[in-house]
Amino acid sequence: MKTPAPNPTDHNQWYPFQDRPLPSRSSQPAENSAVVPVFDPAPLPESSRFVVIGAGVHGMSTAWHLAMSLEKSGKGKGSEVVLIDKQGPGAGATGLACGCIRNLYMTGPLHAILRESVQVWESDPVNLGFQQVGYVSIGESNQEADYVKLNQSQIDSGYPSDIYVGKDAGAFLKSIWPDFRTEHCDVVLHEKPSGYAGTHMACWGLDQKCRQWGVQRVYGASVTGFDQTNGRVQSVQTSTGSIRVDEAVVLSTGAWLPTLTDLLGLPRKLEVHYPDGHIEQEMDMWTYWRLLEGEVYLPEGTDFRTADGKDSPVLHVELMNTPVVGHDGKEMKDYVYWYTRYAAERVGAPGLQGGTIPVKMGPDAILEPYGHLNDLYQADPWFADYYCRVTEMLFGRFDNNLRPHFKDRRNGGIGAFTPDNVPIFDWVTDNVFMTADSNHGFKMIGVGKLVARLLSTGTTPDELKPFAFRRFAEGRTYGDRNSNCPWV
Ligand SMILES: Cc1cc2nc3c(=O)[nH]c(=O)nc-3n(C[C@H](O)[C@H](O)[C@H](O)COP(=O)(O)OP(=O)(O)OC[C@H]3O[C@@H](n4cnc5c(N)ncnc54)[C@H](O)[C@@H]3O)c2cc1C
Repeated sequence: MKTPAPNPTDHNQWYPFQDRPLPSRSSQPAENSAVVPVFDPAPLPESSRFVVIGAGVHGMSTAWHLAMSLEKSGKGKGSEVVLIDKQGPGAGATGLACGCIRNLYMTGPLHAILRESVQVWESDPVNLGFQQVGYVSIGESNQEADYVKLNQSQIDSGYPSDIYVGKDAGAFLKSIWPDFRTEHCDVVLHEKPSGYAGTHMACWGLDQKCRQWGVQRVYGASVTGFDQTNGRVQSVQTSTGSIRVDEAVVLSTGAWLPTLTDLLGLPRKLEVHYPDGHIEQEMDMWTYWRLLEGEVYLPEGTDFRTADGKDSPVLHVELMNTPVVGHDGKEMKDYVYWYTRYAAERVGAPGLQGGTIPVKMGPDAILEPYGHLNDLYQADPWFADYYCRVTEMLFGRFDNNLRPHFKDRRNGGIGAFTPDNVPIFDWVTDNVFMTADSNHGFKMIGVGKLVARLLSTGTTPDELKPFAFRRFAEGRTYGDRNSNCPWV
């Protein structure tokens, strides 16, 4: 018998895996469910060598790569990896992300993380839903020096990109989209290896890879505590029993990381030292932001293709000094911040999907229900007007006619950001490794591969070293970015 996908609000939703089963605990308060159907999950075993908590992009990628590495090297079995999620694949941010995969970061060490990640996306683009259409980012002259620096850092990191400045920037944009309005577009970066991925396809592919390599996927078990002795977690308590840990735990619970680090007894405040000597006392370890995103159908007769008929690169435009003015002549915002990609998976028809700068909340958030189900964190009503208006401003093809096509449905989602909005990938106890991507890491699928290498060899890969926790105490806190957005 088929069960309908949960849609408590009766909005016009679309999911590729429409017939996915309802969560088993459907009579209880709403919780976001897995976004793909789950086949043969395992019961919680009594013990395991490795326990990975959270079946988002990081947990699934870590479990897959670790199991594969144990099997291939003969150092163990895939079944020595247990992956636990309170719901299942994609029940957190991974299942509802915009899916943009890019390397536009002013924090240089992230460029190598993205190089490793795109290699993973490229390893199986079909099953991971990866569309390697490239990424075009546009800034005004106030960001030119930053773009030059990050372009060089990308090249040095083995992630080739091209930069265009002044008249060349406009000409490049026109060569892709002849109807693009290039005014104020002073600098353009083009990353050819980047693109986007359908988030549900990615969850499906990752879950299947875990299954293929023998990971014991325990779905429907919520982690409720840790038994620790001398800084080591001996066992993990869950809603369905306790599991002994023989070697290590990987914590990859996204927006729920604060809850899990509370269970480990880790502090919620810390002292943060900056490179200029400035010290911030009692800073929040976690700050929640809510994302403003949405989708629009492509009006009949329009497309989002390039001049040569290809799927467009993902497009990101930040014009910090250019206001957005509505059809009534009133200023909507004094800046442009807009990102967009083609979005057939999410829209269920030809469409666009994108967003703008997230809104800072604070150290606390209501986590259940997560994502689109939570009334508190929907995209603000002004977002649809702003998103459509910017799209019209940029493209002649959408002149003045997009707003009626905005897809009226639930949207948004929240994430836990770190003190400098840059990921922390590090041990937080003797045997607990934390993957905290600061809520911009759907793209960072390669982190799991790097963590698996660390766990199977005992040596920290160079790419992970810049994301150690001790940077806050040692004055190497990041934050050197010229953008209105916390994740650039
Ligand atoms: C609206 C939105 C759009 C985004 N767009 C992009 C984008 O375009 N590109 C990009 O790179 N990033 C994007 N991000 C960020 C990205 O989605 C996240 O950074 C990433 O998916 C986090 O992955 P994760 O594996 O850490 O956590 P999650 O995907 O959140 O997974 C955590 C899992 O842990 C489970 N869990 C929680 N608590 C427990 C517990 N106690 N016991 C057991 N299991 C538990 C949850 O059920 C969940 O499945 C976006 C985020 C949002 C919210």
